[in-house]
Amino acid sequence: MKVIENVAELKSELAKYSSQSVGFVPTMGAIHSGHLSLVERAHKECDVVVVSIFVNPTQFNDKNDLKNYPRQVAEDCKLIESVGADIAFVPTVEQIYPEPDTRIFDFGDIDKGMEGATRPGHFNGVAQVVSRLFDIVKPAKSYFGEKDFQQVAVIFDMVKQLALPVEIVVVPIVREADGVAMSSRNALLTAEHRAAAPDIYKALRWAQEAREAQTEVAPEEMRAEVVRLIEQSGLLKVIYFEMVDARSLAPINSWADSDNIQGCVALQAGAIRLIDNIKLK
Ligand code: AMP
Repeated sequence: MKVIENVAELKSELAKYSSQSVGFVPTMGAIHSGHLSLVERAHKECDVVVVSIFVNPTQFNDKNDLKNYPRQVAEDCKLIESVGADIAFVPTVEQIYPEPDTRIFDFGDIDKGMEGATRPGHFNGVAQVVSRLFDIVKPAKSYFGEKDFQQVAVIFDMVKQLALPVEIVVVPIVREADGVAMSSRNALLTAEHRAAAPDIYKALRWAQEAREAQTEVAPEEMRAEVVRLIEQSGLLKVIYFEMVDARSLAPINSWADSDNIQGCVALQAGAIRLIDNIKLK
């Protein structure tokens, strides 16, 4: 695997593969099995796999979160190489943003709720960095995790708006054995908060089963119970639990509102913010 830090060098390396399909996995590093499932999938489907490791400052609305974000590039490179990455692109901020990126995207209602409402500017920063990376890498396919459900909707919309010739592939959430969705931020949890974290997936699974049951629970009752189940340890604090149409991300009021409904949660586990989601319909 080649480790490349420079845009010009990456472009000349990729020129060697001009007749082959390039698969691209953008990450912020602190690689775990969730990321590796995206790289494995890209390796199966594409001739050349590029993985970027770049902690993008423009998507952080909280300076402390940016400062504390785990960084371990040497270890990350070994992990991605072991599942078939051909090129690790590890640029500096100056390589990605030689000039400040002042573009403002309009995603309509897609980025107004949930993460968009609680992390102002976050998705604009995601669109800036992903569009910039697509422009450099020019992938045939790019791989994103369903863990970041709203991010996937934003990326689909961005690709449509900019008419980019890239296929977006969505990969299911990879979980720890106890159900906790893998996240680079899990490493920052205290032992106490980590021990409480399985309550998140238990609550989401309860919601999924309750929705599928013959005497299904109304959405508002579901919200109250999911919040109660997640907060029962006294250690986790729910920021939102939204039941939304999986495409428009519009909140639903009744199960009949959509054929495709996702339950999305964000919560505070001490100083660390976590997200998760599950299909409800
Ligand atoms: P990040 O480094 O957190 O920006 O994540 C890079 C990519 O990995 C994104 O597309 C995420 O959605 C995806 N990802 C993160 N965690 C998981 C997970 N537990 N399962 C599947 N994909 C994930």
